[in-house]
Amino acid sequence: MIKTIGIVGAGTMGNGIAQVAARANHNVIMRDTQDSFLERGMSAIDKSLQRDVDKERLSGEEKAAIIERVRATTELNDLAAADLVIEVVPENFAIKQEIFQALDEMLKPEAIIASNTSSISITKLGATTARPDKVIGMHFMNPVPVMKLIEVIRGIATSDETYQSIKELTEKLGKTPLDCQDSPGFVSNRILLPMINEAIFTLYEGVATRESIDGIMKLGMAHPMGPLTLADFIGLDVCLAILNVLHSELGDPKYRPCPLLKKYVDAGWLGRKSGRGFYEY
Ligand code: NAD
Repeated sequence: MIKTIGIVGAGTMGNGIAQVAARANHNVIMRDTQDSFLERGMSAIDKSLQRDVDKERLSGEEKAAIIERVRATTELNDLAAADLVIEVVPENFAIKQEIFQALDEMLKPEAIIASNTSSISITKLGATTARPDKVIGMHFMNPVPVMKLIEVIRGIATSDETYQSIKELTEKLGKTPLDCQDSPGFVSNRILLPMINEAIFTLYEGVATRESIDGIMKLGMAHPMGPLTLADFIGLDVCLAILNVLHSELGDPKYRPCPLLKKYVDAGWLGRKSGRGFYEY
């Protein structure tokens, strides 16, 4: 039974996952490296829940109780009691490996370690631990409180038991689990990122303005937001990291990240979270 959930990383995705887990009555322990990052994460949870209070979908007492169930900490050891830890740190194998190894040494033997990675191999992350059977991918979508899907990814060694526990948890969180094999970018980002990259190439080559590119995809394909707006929403650094994984792991030049995307990331124009990406915020 998964009761206490640890979250490592309180950023865009981490605080969303913490909110959804606490709302489903789990005790949550959320870790980041600095108090200011935790404060930002807690304030995002507060704001998001307040929207539901304002729309009368949640009472003020329920909101307070959900927030009460989230404990923020900078100490990784505070996660020792967790039945499941979800890793939500930046899309970088070296950073994730370090977390996986530390968690593996510290957690109880039956605890599950999940990654919210967008593209990194679950098999490879599992192999950094002594419990690859208890390592799994839980790929939440952004914004976590709104989006229904969790892509569930089994590494080569992930056990049926681990998979079943995570599938049940996913349903308890009010989400729909859909399975996929461990392959770079899984299904969602294998398909989404080449589209976003192509949108950036069309902008780079002057085929159309940002407004036209987004407008054409919205009006013409019934997408809820255009690909450049979506890239800003995801984070341009996250988009670049995923494309780099697709490019290097699949070895096909069709995944080459657009030079304009690289340049924006070099400039620190990371989208919504930095105040500027393809649009200004
Ligand atoms: P983010 O940059 O918003 O947040 C990452 C957080 O991790 C930051 O707060 C950072 O301080 C923290 N962190 C870094 N090192 C840490 C450590 N050692 N211990 C604890 N915290 C640490 O990134 P994000 O967008 O939330 O992405 C996180 C993961 O989720 C990535 O693997 C990404 O690919 C994946 N993901 C992102 C999206 C998206 O739309 N942004 C969607 C699905 C999956």
